[in-house]
Amino acid sequence: MPVRATKRGADRTPLEGDYDAVICGASFAGLAVARELAGSGANVIVIDRYEIGERQTSACAAPTGWLRNLGLEASMRQTFSDLVIHTPHADFRMSLPWTFSTFDYRELCGLLWDQSDAAFETAKVEGRTGTTVHTDRGDLSAPLVVDGLGWKRVLAGGGFQPPDSTLSRGLEVHPWGASDDLEIWIDRGYVPAGYGWSFPAAQEVRVGVGSFDPRHHVKEPTVRLAEDLERDAVRYQGNWIPHRLRPAASDGIFFAGDSAGHCLPLTAEGIRTALYFGIACGRELRAVLEGRKDRTAALRSYAAFSASHRWKFEAMLRVQRLVPRVEPRLLGLMLRGMERGSFVDWSFGHYLAIAPPEFAGSPPLQPAAAPVAAAA
Ligand SMILES: Cc1cc2nc3c(=O)[nH]c(=O)nc-3n(C[C@H](O)[C@H](O)[C@H](O)COP(=O)(O)OP(=O)(O)OC[C@H]3O[C@@H](n4cnc5c(N)ncnc54)[C@H](O)[C@@H]3O)c2cc1C
Repeated sequence: MPVRATKRGADRTPLEGDYDAVICGASFAGLAVARELAGSGANVIVIDRYEIGERQTSACAAPTGWLRNLGLEASMRQTFSDLVIHTPHADFRMSLPWTFSTFDYRELCGLLWDQSDAAFETAKVEGRTGTTVHTDRGDLSAPLVVDGLGWKRVLAGGGFQPPDSTLSRGLEVHPWGASDDLEIWIDRGYVPAGYGWSFPAAQEVRVGVGSFDPRHHVKEPTVRLAEDLERDAVRYQGNWIPHRLRPAASDGIFFAGDSAGHCLPLTAEGIRTALYFGIACGRELRAVLEGRKDRTAALRSYAAFSASHRWKFEAMLRVQRLVPRVEPRLLGLMLRGMERGSFVDWSFGHYLAIAPPEFAGSPPLQPAAAPVAAAA
């Protein structure tokens, strides 16, 4: 398990105040929002229960174009132009029209944070009243509040709990080792509805299993897949993964990333979408801070932007529900047909266009490095 460096004991001083914006969550979504506000002159604070980059939340594979366009190349560990798919009856190698890269979570978060000039504090978010956020260190108020806290959507309240919610679940291990291939397994022997993966990242390999059905446990198949690959089942990391969009603005709060269900169904790819919607959210906040829009209009246009993607997310959810029902031999035949270059280029091109890397655009204005932990 990762070592936690979060402030404890006497370091955990009271925290309270009024800000222009409070961003809750310092992972992909929250850091992308903060990055968009750099140079705005606004009084912005980011809070998370852990230090920035302290606790990895995924296998950390994303389209290389996104990492490049955000200036995060230094965190990249390995780049793949092929995807290897294993089924019970056949294996396939698809040559992709763009590449995926694995990266180091701590380094990527640090690089994103360096492009922001907000303050940061560790604090556990417990809830809110209006736009006052209650934390275990005190209350923080701002007219602009963002929930980038992940699937629990803490600032919405109302209890969204597995196994009765639209959530998948994923677990992986991080053994030392190396491999040249980005691999996935669509095999009911591991999971009835879902897939297994092996994502190499230089000296370590991230091996895991995801289940679209939250009632299906993933520890045993994760350990078994690791054993089958002759890898050690060590350094576990897992979480629930949303597979359906939820309102991106509600009761005066902006939601970005997993808190708004921005993770893509079928692939459970949620990093680039958290960055994408985080940037969109940050741009709306910036428009308010610069007096170009009022808060209500910003909430409305951000919600509409997110909802305009609904049909694509729903189409992927339909495929997510269909694939487990296809008989394995037929699935093999379908994959064989889909292996053709023209089909792969077409389908992966559309897939990338759901949240295209060009959206990241140019770096924000006058980025300034800020200390990771501002004085309390
Ligand atoms: C095993 C696994 C592997 C995955 N692999 C990939 C992958 O390779 N590629 C990909 O694109 N997607 C992957 N995903 C999905 C991806 O991890 C998520 O979609 C993505 O992390 C969402 O980013 P986010 O910023 O919205 O939320 P998160 O990354 O979950 O971050 C939420 C942040 O909020 C903080 N937080 C939560 N609650 C509180 C609280 N109460 N108070 C204070 N802070 C709090 C957390 O500490 C965290 O920093 C994977 C998911 C799992 C479970």
